Amino acid sequence: MAHHTQAYALPTLAPSGATAPPLRLLFWEATAACNLACVHCRRLDVSRQLSRDDLSTEQALGMIASLPQTGRPILVFSGGEPLMRPDLFELAAAARQTGLPTALATNGTIMNEEIAQQVVDVGIRRVSMSFDGPDAVTHDQFRGIDGSFDSTVRGFKELRRRGMSMQINTTVTKHNYRLLDRMYQLALELGADALHIFMLVPVGCGMELSDAIKLDPDEYEAALNWIYDRSLEQKLHLKATCAPHYFRVMRQRAKEDGRPMPTAAHPHRGMGHPGGDAVTGQTGPSSLGKDSGPALEKQGLHPHPDLSLREGEGARPSGHPGGHPGAGGHPPAEPGATTHTRAQGHPEGATGGSGGGGSGGGDMTAMTKGCLAGQAVCFVSHTGEVFPCGYLPVSSGNVKTTPLPAIWRDSSIFAALRNDDLLEGKCGMCEFKKVCMGCRARAFAESHDYLAEEPNCGYTPVRLR
Ligand code: SF4
Ligand code: SF4
Repeated sequence: MAHHTQAYALPTLAPSGATAPPLRLLFWEATAACNLACVHCRRLDVSRQLSRDDLSTEQALGMIASLPQTGRPILVFSGGEPLMRPDLFELAAAARQTGLPTALATNGTIMNEEIAQQVVDVGIRRVSMSFDGPDAVTHDQFRGIDGSFDSTVRGFKELRRRGMSMQINTTVTKHNYRLLDRMYQLALELGADALHIFMLVPVGCGMELSDAIKLDPDEYEAALNWIYDRSLEQKLHLKATCAPHYFRVMRQRAKEDGRPMPTAAHPHRGMGHPGGDAVTGQTGPSSLGKDSGPALEKQGLHPHPDLSLREGEGARPSGHPGGHPGAGGHPPAEPGATTHTRAQGHPEGATGGSGGGGSGGGDMTAMTKGCLAGQAVCFVSHTGEVFPCGYLPVSSGNVKTTPLPAIWRDSSIFAALRNDDLLEGKCGMCEFKKVCMGCRARAFAESHDYLAEEPNCGYTPVRLR
């Protein structure tokens, strides 16, 4: 049965008594307001103003206080530009007091010495910034504002020199597809801990982009193989974000190369800075505007899961060499860790830590599968709407009226996403579906069915040959 969903579906709750997996990563679009207007933003209504529909300070504090009931998720402040929210540091302090690891997804352009110091002082563990090209010409064209590349580099350095764990997010399209090697070099030169390559999801402003700018399945496959090859160098944590079939590519390449699957090949394992990875950037669906439903926008951080932190890590002492962390600083693999269970810095979360228990769930590094939307990750818009991820505009309710833990536990949409038996089309017949799942947001964008097959995968499952 097709689980067809409208973009503005009313919350549908599963029978009470349902259990839920621990939430590992919560992306909160703190505000839809932003000082930039990127061409690939998931938002539809880009605004430079805070909105009266944004969660109030009290509502946001209530949401934060409820989060421990879901596990011990990493709370990612994204936007819009989260730094435009005047109570951001108050909320970050509250999250810290609650025991939640926090991360910040910013475009970096308004970062200065004072703000950078506040970010460090409030205990944010990882900051992600988006670079959509290795130079000002490419990046500024995408970002829509001249000078944004230089501003972001300055902001990046302000945090870096204070020891902050830094992540770069890059959205890949045809315009920068051939510049990935230079992006990689830029990340190394800036001393980033992680480089997350985000595969464009056609929502929000991204939907307006011409097909000429989107990668076709063959280019997509080539990009994933590039990531695999670079990840073997283990110079920094390199990750394919929202490209679930990367998990299929890793397995195929490891088999071809005769490598033991994920240890070496795993992008998250042994590669990340000890500080783990953190955030990703962009925001989620929100700005879509009420009428647009969850909107989906994206901006400084990838709205999804791209962030991972490990307990006790995050901002490093200011004595950090500033050099590339991968240069030898990688922590040894954990004894007993099995393949794919302790990927460092995988945004999607970490398995292991159950988000909660055990070591406190602070270990967000375990990686389990390609898409974790609704399974370990969710997105809350600036108006409080709850979505599986920032790019999948199917709402499960609003934290203004229903506590987030209840939505996380009871939503039938989340329940469907937690059951790979419901996947349709070739994803449903694919031998890799348990580790991949396909991108549910791309499926939705293409067919309005979030359980349909992933449209950007060039693979033919064995059962269909
Ligand atoms: S549905 Fe999954 S893979 Fe797709 S954008 Fe959302 S989190 Fe990423
Ligand atoms: S067919 Fe679907 S499940 Fe299989 S590798 Fe492609 S996207 Fe993943």
